Amino acid sequence: MPGQIPENLQKQLADRLAFYEDLGIRLFYRDRAAGNVFHGEWPAESPGNMARSNEMPHEDPTLPKPARKLDLQKVVPAAAPKMPPLPLPALAGPSLFDAADKIVDDTLLRIREDLGECTRCKLHKNRHSIVFGDGNPKAELVFVGEGPGADEDAQGLPFVGRAGKLLTQMIEAMGLQRKDVYICNVVKCRPPENRLPEEDEVKTCSPFLFRQLDVIAPKAIVCLGAVAAKTLLQTNRGISQFRGQWLDYRGSKLLATYHPAYLLRNPNAKGEVWKDLQKVMAVLGLQVKRSKPS
Ligand code: URA
Repeated sequence: MPGQIPENLQKQLADRLAFYEDLGIRLFYRDRAAGNVFHGEWPAESPGNMARSNEMPHEDPTLPKPARKLDLQKVVPAAAPKMPPLPLPALAGPSLFDAADKIVDDTLLRIREDLGECTRCKLHKNRHSIVFGDGNPKAELVFVGEGPGADEDAQGLPFVGRAGKLLTQMIEAMGLQRKDVYICNVVKCRPPENRLPEEDEVKTCSPFLFRQLDVIAPKAIVCLGAVAAKTLLQTNRGISQFRGQWLDYRGSKLLATYHPAYLLRNPNAKGEVWKDLQKVMAVLGLQVKRSKPS
């Protein structure tokens, strides 16, 4: 029947939504479920609508929380409304997770428990350890890398190899110690041969990173390299287009800079990174030094 969703697709959707719910992400289609179908106009003054045109609609607090079992017939309208084209990828732009509730009383421990002995993506097959994250759970500054390498996989800790040593030097040059900050990655298991994490791996693992950042709620997030920046900003733009600029990530200030592994191959870029880190120091009220560390 036209407008009907095939049964197998319904099941896939239900499974996917249940998975997101397990991760604590709710609110999908709530507007539609309430018969409040979005037709493309968000009048600035209407309650629950967005101040900025490139964001997703916020939750309407008057609506009930969705039941755990979603009735897809109610949730998805029979005749799909004409949606406006998505805005161009925006750097501080719409993320699926902008519309998500922050999980009440979430903790890093709970996130780690939810992650469990994860087998959600193929990276689990070759990993030795899950590298969840390390550092101060109340840190004002979080560094987000790409994914563990061989040393991290062996030790279960982020950034402990060569690139990690350079990151440690960078942190110390800022007048901090590793225990003052929090360090984590987009994917928690090592991609084989240190290849880039693939799209499905990032999609599967990144909700745990989003939860970590929600819990820590740092003043500043430094994305180390393009994978972290693209994941948090939900953009495909090249990092050079926004490296060193302050952007917003769910209320934290976010700045992307080059990955320390890139600096090991391109030491000339260290000066640029040091300038970026000085911006971070200024935001954190740390004394900004003039000379670049060696
Ligand atoms: N590179 C990363 O992106 N993360 C690590 O933990 C180590 C190296």
